[in-house]
Amino acid sequence: MLDRPTTKEAWIARARATVPEGRAFINGQYVAARSGKAFAKISSMDGSVAGQVADCDAADIDEAVKAARAAFEDGRWRDLPATEKKRIMLRFAALIEAHNDEIAVLETLDVGKVIGNSLSIDVPSCHKCIQYYAELADKMYDEIAPMSPKDLVLVRKEPLGVVGAIVPWNYPLIIAAWKIGPALVAGNSVILKPAEQSPFASLYLGKLAKEAGIPDGVLNIVPGFGEKTGKPLALHMDVDMIAFTGSTEVGKLMMRYASESNIKRVALELGGKSAQIVMADADLDKAAEAIAWSIYYNQGQTCHAGSRVVAHRSIKDRLIEKVAAVAKAQIPQGHSFDPHAQMAAMVEKKQMERVLDYIAIGEKEGATLALGGKRVLEETGGFYIEPTIFDNVKPDMRIAQEEIFGPVLAVIPFDTEEEAVGIANGTIFGLGGSVWTKDMNVAHRVSSAIRAGTVFVNCYDKSSPVTPFGGFKQSGFGRDRSPHAVDKYMDFKTIWTVYE
Ligand code: NAD
Repeated sequence: MLDRPTTKEAWIARARATVPEGRAFINGQYVAARSGKAFAKISSMDGSVAGQVADCDAADIDEAVKAARAAFEDGRWRDLPATEKKRIMLRFAALIEAHNDEIAVLETLDVGKVIGNSLSIDVPSCHKCIQYYAELADKMYDEIAPMSPKDLVLVRKEPLGVVGAIVPWNYPLIIAAWKIGPALVAGNSVILKPAEQSPFASLYLGKLAKEAGIPDGVLNIVPGFGEKTGKPLALHMDVDMIAFTGSTEVGKLMMRYASESNIKRVALELGGKSAQIVMADADLDKAAEAIAWSIYYNQGQTCHAGSRVVAHRSIKDRLIEKVAAVAKAQIPQGHSFDPHAQMAAMVEKKQMERVLDYIAIGEKEGATLALGGKRVLEETGGFYIEPTIFDNVKPDMRIAQEEIFGPVLAVIPFDTEEEAVGIANGTIFGLGGSVWTKDMNVAHRVSSAIRAGTVFVNCYDKSSPVTPFGGFKQSGFGRDRSPHAVDKYMDFKTIWTVYE
Protein backbone atom coordinates (compact mmCIF):
# COMPACT_ATOMS: atom_id res chain seq x y z
CA MET A 1 0.00 0.00 0.00
CA LEU A 2 1.22 3.51 -0.80
CA ASP A 3 2.01 5.84 2.10
CA ARG A 4 -1.01 7.87 3.12
CA PRO A 5 -0.64 11.53 2.01
CA THR A 6 -0.76 14.16 4.73
CA THR A 7 -1.53 17.31 2.73
CA LYS A 8 -4.33 18.43 0.46
CA GLU A 9 -1.92 18.86 -2.45
CA ALA A 10 -0.58 15.32 -2.10
CA TRP A 11 -4.11 13.89 -1.87
CA ILE A 12 -5.19 15.80 -4.98
CA ALA A 13 -2.13 14.48 -6.82
CA ARG A 14 -3.09 10.95 -5.74
CA ALA A 15 -6.66 11.49 -6.94
CA ARG A 16 -5.51 12.91 -10.29
CA ALA A 17 -3.23 9.90 -10.83
CA THR A 18 -6.13 7.51 -10.20
CA VAL A 19 -7.78 6.05 -13.30
CA PRO A 20 -11.05 4.60 -12.01
CA GLU A 21 -12.49 1.44 -13.54
CA GLY A 22 -15.79 2.53 -15.04
CA ARG A 23 -16.82 -0.61 -16.94
CA ALA A 24 -19.55 -2.94 -15.77
CA PHE A 25 -18.58 -6.06 -13.80
CA ILE A 26 -20.58 -8.95 -15.26
CA ASN A 27 -19.93 -12.68 -14.84
CA GLY A 28 -16.53 -12.01 -13.27
CA GLN A 29 -15.24 -9.68 -16.01
CA TYR A 30 -15.08 -5.94 -16.52
CA VAL A 31 -16.89 -5.19 -19.79
CA ALA A 32 -17.87 -2.06 -21.72
CA ALA A 33 -21.55 -1.36 -22.25
CA ARG A 34 -22.80 -3.46 -25.18
CA SER A 35 -23.80 -0.25 -26.94
CA GLY A 36 -20.18 0.97 -26.59
CA LYS A 37 -21.46 4.13 -24.91
CA ALA A 38 -19.89 5.76 -21.87
CA PHE A 39 -20.49 8.97 -19.92
CA ALA A 40 -18.15 11.30 -18.07
CA LYS A 41 -18.40 11.34 -14.29
CA ILE A 42 -17.84 14.89 -13.05
CA SER A 43 -16.06 15.23 -9.74
CA SER A 44 -17.89 17.69 -7.50
CA MET A 45 -14.70 18.72 -5.67
CA ASP A 46 -13.64 20.91 -8.63
CA GLY A 47 -15.91 20.19 -11.61
CA SER A 48 -13.25 18.12 -13.43
CA VAL A 49 -13.85 14.81 -15.21
CA ALA A 50 -13.06 12.00 -12.75
CA GLY A 51 -13.39 9.22 -15.32
CA GLN A 52 -15.59 7.46 -17.87
CA VAL A 53 -18.47 5.18 -16.91
CA ALA A 54 -20.16 2.49 -18.98
CA ASP A 55 -23.58 3.83 -20.00
CA CYS A 56 -25.39 0.54 -19.47
CA ASP A 57 -28.92 -0.20 -20.63
CA ALA A 58 -31.42 -3.06 -20.84
CA ALA A 59 -29.04 -5.22 -22.92
CA ASP A 60 -26.35 -5.09 -20.21
CA ILE A 61 -28.92 -5.76 -17.51
CA ASP A 62 -30.05 -8.81 -19.50
CA GLU A 63 -26.47 -10.12 -19.61
CA ALA A 64 -26.06 -9.59 -15.89
CA VAL A 65 -29.38 -11.29 -15.09
CA LYS A 66 -28.45 -14.29 -17.27
CA ALA A 67 -25.09 -14.61 -15.49
CA ALA A 68 -26.68 -14.20 -12.07
CA ARG A 69 -29.44 -16.74 -12.86
CA ALA A 70 -26.97 -19.33 -14.19
CA ALA A 71 -24.83 -18.94 -11.07
CA PHE A 72 -27.87 -19.37 -8.86
CA GLU A 73 -29.29 -22.38 -10.66
CA ASP A 74 -26.08 -24.42 -10.74
CA GLY A 75 -25.59 -23.78 -7.03
CA ARG A 76 -21.97 -22.63 -7.31
CA TRP A 77 -22.57 -20.23 -4.42
CA ARG A 78 -25.97 -21.17 -2.98
CA ASP A 79 -24.93 -24.78 -2.30
CA LEU A 80 -21.53 -24.09 -0.79
CA PRO A 81 -21.24 -25.21 2.84
CA ALA A 82 -21.93 -22.32 5.22
CA THR A 83 -18.36 -22.40 6.52
CA GLU A 84 -17.07 -22.00 2.98
CA LYS A 85 -19.33 -19.02 2.28
CA LYS A 86 -18.08 -17.55 5.52
CA ARG A 87 -14.42 -18.07 4.60
CA ILE A 88 -14.86 -16.41 1.20
CA MET A 89 -16.87 -13.47 2.51
CA LEU A 90 -14.35 -12.90 5.30
CA ARG A 91 -11.64 -12.79 2.66
CA PHE A 92 -13.74 -10.29 0.66
CA ALA A 93 -14.02 -8.09 3.76
CA ALA A 94 -10.29 -8.40 4.45
CA LEU A 95 -9.45 -7.36 0.87
CA ILE A 96 -11.67 -4.28 1.19
CA GLU A 97 -9.83 -3.41 4.39
CA ALA A 98 -6.44 -3.98 2.73
CA HIS A 99 -7.38 -1.59 -0.10
CA ASN A 100 -8.88 1.00 2.24
CA ASP A 101 -7.05 4.01 0.87
CA GLU A 102 -7.48 3.28 -2.86
CA ILE A 103 -11.20 2.76 -2.32
CA ALA A 104 -11.46 5.90 -0.18
CA VAL A 105 -10.05 8.00 -3.03
CA LEU A 106 -12.73 6.58 -5.34
CA GLU A 107 -15.46 7.23 -2.77
CA THR A 108 -14.41 10.87 -2.47
CA LEU A 109 -14.18 11.25 -6.25
CA ASP A 110 -17.66 9.74 -6.47
CA VAL A 111 -19.38 11.85 -3.83
CA GLY A 112 -17.20 14.88 -3.04
CA LYS A 113 -17.23 13.98 0.67
CA VAL A 114 -14.13 14.69 2.76
CA ILE A 115 -11.33 12.20 2.30
CA GLY A 116 -11.02 11.80 6.08
CA ASN A 117 -14.57 10.40 6.25
CA SER A 118 -14.03 8.05 3.31
CA LEU A 119 -10.85 6.73 4.94
CA SER A 120 -12.12 6.29 8.46
CA ILE A 121 -15.88 5.80 8.13
CA ASP A 122 -17.12 4.74 4.69
CA VAL A 123 -14.60 2.09 3.67
CA PRO A 124 -14.21 0.62 7.18
CA SER A 125 -18.00 0.48 7.63
CA CYS A 126 -18.26 -1.36 4.31
CA HIS A 127 -15.74 -4.05 5.22
CA LYS A 128 -17.11 -4.41 8.76
CA CYS A 129 -20.62 -4.94 7.41
CA ILE A 130 -19.47 -7.67 4.98
CA GLN A 131 -17.49 -9.22 7.84
CA TYR A 132 -20.57 -9.17 10.10
CA TYR A 133 -22.66 -11.07 7.55
CA ALA A 134 -19.79 -13.48 6.81
CA GLU A 135 -19.73 -14.35 10.51
CA LEU A 136 -23.47 -15.04 10.45
CA ALA A 137 -23.12 -17.65 7.69
CA ASP A 138 -22.70 -20.65 10.01
CA LYS A 139 -24.86 -19.30 12.84
CA MET A 140 -28.26 -19.27 11.15
CA TYR A 141 -30.56 -22.21 11.84
CA ASP A 142 -33.80 -23.30 10.23
CA GLU A 143 -36.79 -24.50 12.25
CA ILE A 144 -38.71 -27.68 13.05
CA ALA A 145 -42.41 -27.02 13.67
CA PRO A 146 -43.88 -28.48 16.89
CA MET A 147 -46.10 -31.32 15.55
CA SER A 148 -46.79 -34.95 16.52
CA PRO A 149 -43.81 -37.37 16.68
CA LYS A 150 -44.90 -38.87 13.34
CA ASP A 151 -44.83 -35.55 11.54
CA LEU A 152 -41.45 -34.08 10.75
CA VAL A 153 -42.15 -30.55 9.60
CA LEU A 154 -39.13 -28.58 8.50
CA VAL A 155 -39.51 -24.84 8.06
CA ARG A 156 -36.57 -23.96 5.87
CA LYS A 157 -35.38 -20.61 4.65
CA GLU A 158 -34.25 -20.60 1.04
CA PRO A 159 -32.58 -17.87 -0.99
CA LEU A 160 -34.86 -15.99 -3.40
CA GLY A 161 -32.60 -16.24 -6.46
CA VAL A 162 -31.52 -13.09 -8.31
CA VAL A 163 -31.52 -9.89 -6.25
CA GLY A 164 -31.23 -6.43 -7.82
CA ALA A 165 -29.77 -3.85 -5.43
CA ILE A 166 -30.40 -0.26 -6.56
CA VAL A 167 -28.56 2.23 -4.36
CA PRO A 168 -28.10 6.00 -4.00
CA TRP A 169 -25.01 8.19 -4.06
CA ASN A 170 -24.76 9.52 -0.52
CA TYR A 171 -23.07 6.49 1.08
CA PRO A 172 -22.35 4.30 -1.96
CA LEU A 173 -20.11 1.76 -0.22
CA ILE A 174 -21.98 1.50 3.06
CA ILE A 175 -25.36 1.03 1.45
CA ALA A 176 -23.96 -1.43 -1.11
CA ALA A 177 -22.57 -3.48 1.79
CA TRP A 178 -25.92 -3.34 3.62
CA LYS A 179 -27.45 -5.10 0.58
CA ILE A 180 -24.60 -7.33 -0.66
CA GLY A 181 -23.75 -8.74 2.79
CA PRO A 182 -27.14 -10.22 3.74
CA ALA A 183 -28.15 -11.08 0.14
CA LEU A 184 -24.97 -13.10 -0.41
CA VAL A 185 -24.94 -14.84 2.94
CA ALA A 186 -28.51 -15.94 2.21
CA GLY A 187 -27.20 -17.64 -0.97
CA ASN A 188 -28.53 -15.30 -3.66
CA SER A 189 -26.88 -13.90 -6.76
CA VAL A 190 -26.74 -10.09 -6.79
CA ILE A 191 -26.79 -7.32 -9.39
CA LEU A 192 -25.71 -4.05 -7.82
CA LYS A 193 -26.77 -0.86 -9.65
CA PRO A 194 -24.84 2.07 -8.18
CA ALA A 195 -26.11 5.61 -8.66
CA GLU A 196 -24.90 7.35 -11.83
CA GLN A 197 -23.17 9.94 -9.64
CA SER A 198 -21.12 7.39 -7.67
CA PRO A 199 -20.04 4.32 -9.65
CA PHE A 200 -16.29 3.98 -9.03
CA ALA A 201 -15.89 2.70 -5.47
CA SER A 202 -18.67 0.14 -6.04
CA LEU A 203 -17.14 -1.09 -9.29
CA TYR A 204 -13.81 -1.61 -7.53
CA LEU A 205 -15.53 -4.16 -5.28
CA GLY A 206 -15.97 -6.46 -8.30
CA LYS A 207 -12.32 -7.36 -8.62
CA LEU A 208 -11.96 -7.85 -4.87
CA ALA A 209 -14.99 -10.16 -4.82
CA LYS A 210 -13.38 -12.23 -7.57
CA GLU A 211 -10.02 -12.30 -5.81
CA ALA A 212 -11.75 -13.40 -2.62
CA GLY A 213 -13.27 -16.40 -4.43
CA ILE A 214 -16.87 -15.27 -4.93
CA PRO A 215 -17.72 -17.29 -8.06
CA ASP A 216 -18.31 -15.51 -11.36
CA GLY A 217 -21.90 -14.37 -11.88
CA VAL A 218 -22.70 -14.24 -8.16
CA LEU A 219 -21.91 -10.54 -7.75
CA ASN A 220 -22.44 -8.29 -10.78
CA ILE A 221 -22.16 -4.50 -10.78
CA VAL A 222 -23.88 -2.58 -13.56
CA PRO A 223 -23.51 1.22 -13.59
CA GLY A 224 -25.76 3.65 -15.41
CA PHE A 225 -28.68 6.01 -15.12
CA GLY A 226 -31.92 5.32 -13.27
CA GLU A 227 -34.31 5.23 -16.23
CA LYS A 228 -31.89 3.42 -18.53
CA THR A 229 -30.29 0.86 -16.19
CA GLY A 230 -32.29 0.77 -12.95
CA LYS A 231 -35.68 0.56 -14.62
CA PRO A 232 -34.96 -2.52 -16.80
CA LEU A 233 -33.51 -4.21 -13.73
CA ALA A 234 -36.62 -3.45 -11.67
CA LEU A 235 -38.91 -4.52 -14.54
CA HIS A 236 -36.96 -7.69 -15.38
CA MET A 237 -39.05 -10.87 -15.38
CA ASP A 238 -36.17 -12.99 -14.09
CA VAL A 239 -35.21 -10.84 -11.10
CA ASP A 240 -36.74 -12.09 -7.85
CA MET A 241 -36.28 -9.06 -5.67
CA ILE A 242 -35.34 -5.39 -5.73
CA ALA A 243 -33.64 -4.06 -2.62
CA PHE A 244 -33.87 -0.32 -3.13
CA THR A 245 -32.44 2.65 -1.25
CA GLY A 246 -33.18 6.11 -2.57
CA SER A 247 -35.87 8.75 -2.71
CA THR A 248 -39.49 8.11 -1.78
CA GLU A 249 -40.49 9.22 -5.28
CA VAL A 250 -38.39 6.54 -7.02
CA GLY A 251 -39.28 4.02 -4.29
CA LYS A 252 -42.91 4.30 -5.37
CA LEU A 253 -41.84 3.48 -8.95
CA MET A 254 -40.19 0.28 -7.66
CA MET A 255 -43.54 -0.96 -6.39
CA ARG A 256 -45.12 -0.09 -9.71
CA TYR A 257 -42.41 -1.89 -11.68
CA ALA A 258 -42.84 -4.97 -9.47
CA SER A 259 -46.57 -5.05 -10.10
CA GLU A 260 -46.12 -4.47 -13.84
CA SER A 261 -43.63 -7.34 -14.13
CA ASN A 262 -43.37 -10.50 -12.02
CA ILE A 263 -44.53 -9.36 -8.56
CA LYS A 264 -40.93 -9.48 -7.44
CA ARG A 265 -40.25 -8.77 -3.78
CA VAL A 266 -39.47 -5.14 -3.00
CA ALA A 267 -37.72 -3.70 0.05
CA LEU A 268 -37.56 0.09 0.29
CA GLU A 269 -35.23 2.33 2.31
CA LEU A 270 -36.38 5.85 1.48
CA GLY A 271 -36.13 9.48 2.45
CA GLY A 272 -36.45 11.19 5.81
CA LYS A 273 -37.05 14.46 7.62
CA SER A 274 -36.01 13.41 11.08
CA ALA A 275 -36.87 15.54 14.10
CA GLN A 276 -34.66 16.16 17.10
CA ILE A 277 -36.83 17.20 20.05
CA VAL A 278 -34.90 19.29 22.57
CA MET A 279 -36.70 19.69 25.89
CA ALA A 280 -36.13 22.65 28.21
CA ASP A 281 -34.01 20.57 30.65
CA ALA A 282 -31.69 19.11 27.98
CA ASP A 283 -27.91 19.30 28.16
CA LEU A 284 -27.68 21.98 25.47
CA ASP A 285 -23.96 21.63 24.83
CA LYS A 286 -24.29 17.93 24.11
CA ALA A 287 -27.45 18.43 22.05
CA ALA A 288 -25.91 21.26 19.99
CA GLU A 289 -22.84 19.19 19.19
CA ALA A 290 -24.87 16.18 18.04
CA ILE A 291 -27.33 18.34 16.09
CA ALA A 292 -24.56 20.15 14.21
CA TRP A 293 -22.81 16.91 13.27
CA SER A 294 -26.06 15.23 12.30
CA ILE A 295 -26.94 17.90 9.73
CA TYR A 296 -23.51 18.97 8.48
CA TYR A 297 -21.80 15.57 8.30
CA ASN A 298 -21.64 14.49 4.63
CA GLN A 299 -23.04 17.97 3.78
CA GLY A 300 -26.43 16.95 5.15
CA GLN A 301 -26.79 14.29 2.46
CA THR A 302 -27.82 11.68 5.00
CA CYS A 303 -31.21 9.98 4.88
CA HIS A 304 -31.70 10.20 8.66
CA ALA A 305 -30.00 13.59 9.09
CA GLY A 306 -31.61 15.39 12.02
CA SER A 307 -32.80 18.10 9.68
CA ARG A 308 -35.59 19.44 11.91
CA VAL A 309 -34.89 20.67 15.41
CA VAL A 310 -38.02 20.92 17.51
CA ALA A 311 -36.80 23.09 20.37
CA HIS A 312 -38.56 24.23 23.56
CA ARG A 313 -39.20 27.95 23.18
CA SER A 314 -37.28 28.76 26.39
CA ILE A 315 -33.95 27.36 25.10
CA LYS A 316 -34.33 27.73 21.31
CA ASP A 317 -32.19 30.85 20.86
CA ARG A 318 -29.36 29.57 23.07
CA LEU A 319 -29.45 26.24 21.23
CA ILE A 320 -29.17 27.90 17.83
CA GLU A 321 -26.15 29.92 19.01
CA LYS A 322 -24.50 26.76 20.25
CA VAL A 323 -25.16 24.78 17.05
CA ALA A 324 -23.64 27.64 15.02
CA ALA A 325 -20.62 27.72 17.36
CA VAL A 326 -20.06 23.96 16.95
CA ALA A 327 -20.25 24.30 13.16
CA LYS A 328 -17.62 27.03 13.25
CA ALA A 329 -15.28 25.38 15.76
CA GLN A 330 -15.53 21.71 14.87
CA ILE A 331 -16.68 21.39 11.28
CA PRO A 332 -14.32 23.37 9.05
CA GLN A 333 -15.31 23.35 5.41
CA GLY A 334 -12.72 22.80 2.72
CA HIS A 335 -11.71 20.96 -0.44
CA SER A 336 -12.86 17.34 -0.56
CA PHE A 337 -9.24 16.14 -0.43
CA ASP A 338 -8.20 18.48 2.40
CA PRO A 339 -7.41 16.07 5.24
CA HIS A 340 -8.33 18.77 7.81
CA ALA A 341 -11.77 19.53 6.35
CA GLN A 342 -14.87 18.07 8.01
CA MET A 343 -17.32 19.30 5.40
CA ALA A 344 -16.80 19.48 1.65
CA ALA A 345 -18.71 19.44 -1.64
CA MET A 346 -22.26 18.43 -2.50
CA VAL A 347 -22.42 15.41 -4.79
CA GLU A 348 -23.09 17.36 -7.98
CA LYS A 349 -24.06 20.76 -9.35
CA LYS A 350 -27.72 19.78 -9.65
CA GLN A 351 -27.89 18.82 -5.97
CA MET A 352 -26.18 22.08 -4.97
CA GLU A 353 -28.72 24.04 -7.00
CA ARG A 354 -31.61 22.08 -5.50
CA VAL A 355 -30.42 22.93 -1.98
CA LEU A 356 -29.88 26.61 -2.86
CA ASP A 357 -33.44 26.64 -4.26
CA TYR A 358 -34.74 25.32 -0.93
CA ILE A 359 -32.82 28.04 0.91
CA ALA A 360 -34.53 30.63 -1.30
CA ILE A 361 -37.89 28.95 -0.63
CA GLY A 362 -37.26 29.11 3.16
CA GLU A 363 -36.57 32.84 2.97
CA LYS A 364 -39.65 33.37 0.84
CA GLU A 365 -41.79 31.37 3.26
CA GLY A 366 -40.79 33.76 6.02
CA ALA A 367 -38.29 31.70 8.04
CA THR A 368 -35.29 33.60 9.45
CA LEU A 369 -31.87 32.74 8.10
CA ALA A 370 -29.75 32.42 11.27
CA LEU A 371 -26.58 31.00 9.69
CA GLY A 372 -25.05 30.54 6.24
CA GLY A 373 -27.25 30.12 3.18
CA LYS A 374 -24.69 30.59 0.41
CA ARG A 375 -22.51 28.75 -2.05
CA VAL A 376 -18.84 28.89 -0.99
CA LEU A 377 -15.40 27.91 -2.34
CA GLU A 378 -16.58 28.74 -5.85
CA GLU A 379 -12.97 29.39 -6.90
CA THR A 380 -12.30 25.62 -6.68
CA GLY A 381 -14.81 25.00 -9.48
CA GLY A 382 -16.60 22.64 -7.04
CA PHE A 383 -20.10 22.64 -5.56
CA TYR A 384 -19.94 23.69 -1.91
CA ILE A 385 -22.66 25.12 0.39
CA GLU A 386 -21.97 26.52 3.85
CA PRO A 387 -23.67 25.26 7.04
CA THR A 388 -27.13 26.83 7.18
CA ILE A 389 -29.75 27.30 9.91
CA PHE A 390 -33.31 28.56 9.56
CA ASP A 391 -35.00 29.90 12.71
CA ASN A 392 -38.72 30.53 13.27
CA VAL A 393 -39.74 27.74 10.95
CA LYS A 394 -43.41 26.74 10.96
CA PRO A 395 -44.22 23.01 10.82
CA ASP A 396 -46.15 23.31 7.56
CA MET A 397 -43.48 25.22 5.62
CA ARG A 398 -41.91 23.33 2.71
CA ILE A 399 -38.48 23.51 4.36
CA ALA A 400 -40.01 21.66 7.34
CA GLN A 401 -41.87 19.07 5.29
CA GLU A 402 -39.68 18.18 2.30
CA GLU A 403 -36.34 16.40 2.29
CA ILE A 404 -33.74 19.02 1.31
CA PHE A 405 -30.78 16.63 1.52
CA GLY A 406 -28.25 19.36 2.23
CA PRO A 407 -26.65 21.24 5.16
CA VAL A 408 -29.86 23.08 6.06
CA LEU A 409 -31.33 22.90 9.55
CA ALA A 410 -34.91 23.99 10.23
CA VAL A 411 -35.62 25.03 13.84
CA ILE A 412 -39.24 24.90 15.01
CA PRO A 413 -40.24 26.14 18.51
CA PHE A 414 -42.72 24.30 20.78
CA ASP A 415 -44.36 24.86 24.16
CA THR A 416 -45.74 21.48 25.26
CA GLU A 417 -44.54 17.87 24.97
CA GLU A 418 -47.69 16.91 23.08
CA GLU A 419 -47.09 19.68 20.56
CA ALA A 420 -43.45 18.56 20.10
CA VAL A 421 -44.48 14.98 19.35
CA GLY A 422 -47.16 16.21 16.95
CA ILE A 423 -44.61 18.28 15.04
CA ALA A 424 -42.09 15.40 14.98
CA ASN A 425 -44.72 13.03 13.57
CA GLY A 426 -46.26 15.61 11.25
CA THR A 427 -44.53 14.64 7.99
CA ILE A 428 -44.91 11.77 5.52
CA PHE A 429 -41.55 10.38 6.71
CA GLY A 430 -40.56 8.19 9.66
CA LEU A 431 -36.89 7.30 9.40
CA GLY A 432 -35.18 8.70 12.50
CA GLY A 433 -35.58 11.07 15.40
CA SER A 434 -34.29 11.93 18.84
CA VAL A 435 -35.25 13.33 22.19
CA TRP A 436 -32.94 15.36 24.40
CA THR A 437 -33.91 15.51 28.09
CA LYS A 438 -32.56 14.67 31.55
CA ASP A 439 -35.97 13.29 32.58
CA MET A 440 -36.06 9.58 31.72
CA ASN A 441 -39.86 9.47 32.00
CA VAL A 442 -40.08 12.09 29.27
CA ALA A 443 -37.41 10.26 27.26
CA HIS A 444 -39.39 7.03 27.45
CA ARG A 445 -42.74 8.63 26.61
CA VAL A 446 -41.46 10.70 23.72
CA SER A 447 -39.21 8.04 22.16
CA SER A 448 -42.18 5.63 22.22
CA ALA A 449 -44.45 8.24 20.64
CA ILE A 450 -42.15 9.14 17.73
CA ARG A 451 -43.14 7.10 14.68
CA ALA A 452 -39.73 6.29 13.20
CA GLY A 453 -37.45 3.32 12.61
CA THR A 454 -34.71 4.62 14.91
CA VAL A 455 -35.07 7.01 17.85
CA PHE A 456 -32.02 8.23 19.73
CA VAL A 457 -32.13 9.42 23.35
CA ASN A 458 -29.50 12.03 24.30
CA CYS A 459 -27.37 11.03 21.32
CA TYR A 460 -27.66 10.90 17.52
CA ASP A 461 -26.43 8.96 14.52
CA LYS A 462 -25.14 5.90 16.35
CA SER A 463 -24.72 3.19 13.74
CA SER A 464 -23.73 -0.47 13.71
CA PRO A 465 -24.32 -3.52 11.48
CA VAL A 466 -25.79 -5.13 14.61
CA THR A 467 -28.93 -2.94 14.74
CA PRO A 468 -31.80 -2.89 12.22
CA PHE A 469 -32.15 0.28 10.14
CA GLY A 470 -35.08 1.48 8.08
CA GLY A 471 -38.26 3.48 8.05
CA PHE A 472 -41.85 3.80 9.15
CA LYS A 473 -44.47 5.46 6.91
CA GLN A 474 -43.15 6.75 3.55
CA SER A 475 -39.55 6.22 4.67
CA GLY A 476 -40.04 2.65 3.47
CA PHE A 477 -40.27 -0.91 4.75
CA GLY A 478 -37.92 -3.82 5.27
CA ARG A 479 -34.77 -3.40 7.29
CA ASP A 480 -31.10 -3.19 6.42
CA ARG A 481 -28.47 -4.39 8.96
CA SER A 482 -28.77 -6.99 11.75
CA PRO A 483 -29.77 -10.64 11.23
CA HIS A 484 -33.32 -9.45 10.38
CA ALA A 485 -32.01 -8.10 7.08
CA VAL A 486 -31.14 -11.64 5.93
CA ASP A 487 -34.75 -12.80 6.19
CA LYS A 488 -35.93 -10.44 3.50
CA TYR A 489 -33.59 -12.12 0.99
CA MET A 490 -35.12 -15.56 1.77
CA ASP A 491 -38.40 -17.40 1.39
CA PHE A 492 -39.87 -19.84 3.88
CA LYS A 493 -40.47 -23.38 2.66
CA THR A 494 -42.38 -25.98 4.67
CA ILE A 495 -41.37 -29.62 4.09
CA TRP A 496 -43.87 -31.93 5.78
CA THR A 497 -42.95 -35.61 6.14
CA VAL A 498 -45.20 -38.24 7.77
CA TYR A 499 -43.56 -41.37 9.19
CA GLU A 500 -45.40 -44.65 9.60
P1 NAD B 1 -32.85 8.44 -6.25
O1 NAD B 1 -34.13 7.85 -5.79
O2 NAD B 1 -32.87 9.54 -7.23
O3 NAD B 1 -31.91 7.32 -6.88
C1 NAD B 1 -31.59 6.14 -6.18
C2 NAD B 1 -31.20 5.07 -7.18
O4 NAD B 1 -32.33 4.78 -8.01
C3 NAD B 1 -30.06 5.47 -8.13
O5 NAD B 1 -29.25 4.36 -8.36
C4 NAD B 1 -30.81 5.88 -9.40
O6 NAD B 1 -30.04 5.72 -10.57
C5 NAD B 1 -31.96 4.88 -9.37
N1 NAD B 1 -33.13 5.33 -10.13
C6 NAD B 1 -33.57 6.60 -10.35
N2 NAD B 1 -34.68 6.58 -11.12
C7 NAD B 1 -34.95 5.29 -11.39
C8 NAD B 1 -35.97 4.62 -12.13
N3 NAD B 1 -36.94 5.28 -12.76
N4 NAD B 1 -35.94 3.27 -12.18
C9 NAD B 1 -34.98 2.57 -11.54
N5 NAD B 1 -33.97 3.14 -10.84
C10 NAD B 1 -33.98 4.49 -10.75
O7 NAD B 1 -32.09 8.87 -4.90
P2 NAD B 1 -30.68 9.59 -4.76
O8 NAD B 1 -30.85 11.02 -5.14
O9 NAD B 1 -29.62 8.76 -5.42
O10 NAD B 1 -30.44 9.45 -3.18
C11 NAD B 1 -30.99 10.29 -2.25
C12 NAD B 1 -32.22 9.67 -1.62
O11 NAD B 1 -31.89 8.42 -1.02
C13 NAD B 1 -32.75 10.52 -0.49
O12 NAD B 1 -34.14 10.59 -0.57
C14 NAD B 1 -32.33 9.75 0.76
O13 NAD B 1 -33.10 9.99 1.89
C15 NAD B 1 -32.44 8.35 0.29
N6 NAD B 1 -31.67 7.45 1.16
C16 NAD B 1 -32.34 6.61 2.02
C17 NAD B 1 -31.62 5.78 2.88
C18 NAD B 1 -32.31 4.84 3.82
O14 NAD B 1 -31.67 3.90 4.30
N7 NAD B 1 -33.57 5.03 4.12
C19 NAD B 1 -30.22 5.80 2.85
C20 NAD B 1 -29.59 6.67 1.97
C21 NAD B 1 -30.32 7.49 1.11
